[in-house]
Amino acid sequence: MSERASRAWLTSYRAALVIPVTAAPIPDGAVLVEGDKIVWVGPRAQQPAAPNARIVELGDSVLAPGLVNAHTHLDLTVMRGLLDGLSFFEWIRAVVAARGVLSADEWLDSARLGVIEALEAGITCVGDTAPTSASFDAMLELGLRGIAYQEVFGPDPAQSKGALADLSGRVATLRSRESSRVHIGVSPHAPYSVSDELYVNAVAWARQQNLPLATHVAESADESDLIARGAGPFADMLRGRGIKVEPRGRSPIGLLDRLGVLGQDALLIHCVRCDDDDIVAIRAKLAPVVTCPFSNRYFGHGDAPWERLLKGLGAIAVGTDSMASNTGLDLLAEVRLALGHPADSTGVSVWMFGTLGGANALRLSDEVGSLTPGKQADLCAFPIPAGSRDTAHLRVGPKASLTVVSGVERVREGRVLGDAEGIRKRVTAASARLRQWRTGATAG
Ligand SMILES: [Zn+2]
Repeated sequence: MSERASRAWLTSYRAALVIPVTAAPIPDGAVLVEGDKIVWVGPRAQQPAAPNARIVELGDSVLAPGLVNAHTHLDLTVMRGLLDGLSFFEWIRAVVAARGVLSADEWLDSARLGVIEALEAGITCVGDTAPTSASFDAMLELGLRGIAYQEVFGPDPAQSKGALADLSGRVATLRSRESSRVHIGVSPHAPYSVSDELYVNAVAWARQQNLPLATHVAESADESDLIARGAGPFADMLRGRGIKVEPRGRSPIGLLDRLGVLGQDALLIHCVRCDDDDIVAIRAKLAPVVTCPFSNRYFGHGDAPWERLLKGLGAIAVGTDSMASNTGLDLLAEVRLALGHPADSTGVSVWMFGTLGGANALRLSDEVGSLTPGKQADLCAFPIPAGSRDTAHLRVGPKASLTVVSGVERVREGRVLGDAEGIRKRVTAASARLRQWRTGATAG
């Protein structure tokens, strides 16, 4: 499929309900797209004359900005269902060990499948973290937008220099291949896998390079135990590797605050374990937060304190996390869970958090996140279930009927364009090999 063939120069998308997010929902609306940009949004009866426009009639559907999934690990899609039932500590060790089981090509296929499933779910933009270029390559290749944060690890302060050298090398190579759609960022992984020294050095380097940051933080009780008391399974593991462990902060957020990590450019992933002091610190630095409701429940971590986080926070988003701790990419269901729906007690639209909230958190809201003339033509459409037109109670998803990124249709009539079946087949085979490896690992 050539980009040219699928790109409509002037297209009028029409639907029973258009949700611009930054303006009131529009019954019988239209969105006029020219090339890669939105040029007009309004009631279809008022659309300016566009005699050459191709008309895409979506009928009884909701047409909205493309969904923004602010935290993914697309390359781990092959691990769906593989590690169910493990504790968080055991799970993360298994994810690290699995890295050595598949080839680089297989991880790339896994990331490709992640992109395909995202597009099928109406997601047009992600904040992805990965230790390799797999997600970045798949996003470039298959037309997803977003930031591919390159992960860096190193719990031993002695690793800091080497880890940073490796990171800067990787980032330099990938940056030369960035596009207007896919950008590179930097992600020091988490407080239990990154030393204070590496946090300070990686963050200073990223800021000097003007690269966006993301880090997992305040996710589990084990992480809090390590940081506040120097105790628990992470502490035992690090001591077992000869690494000195001491209490490092009042809390994981307190630690990042002390190290100077918090900032508008540093996305905080999870924030389940945040007390009032943590929230004050996050707010003071206007740090964006992404929570992953289903993933947090998968591990039994609990729920992020949304109501408290919401008060005064600049940017709060939702993410699905990886398929190693989730079953699907239903972003609007994640928002409903975060908000404690069906009753939207905050009065704020589910759509807002699923679109503009994510765009704000990734600092991409100048380009995407709402149906606004001048922004990128990133759109999604979902069929409206019978008898549910009322926007306050509208529940759609998880399968999009249309997904458009930068004016290019990637999903049409519910089908993703391209060789999805070939990729699915190869990932199924890789997944079977991972299962065999797990069986061997648990038996041994
Ligand atoms: Zn994650």
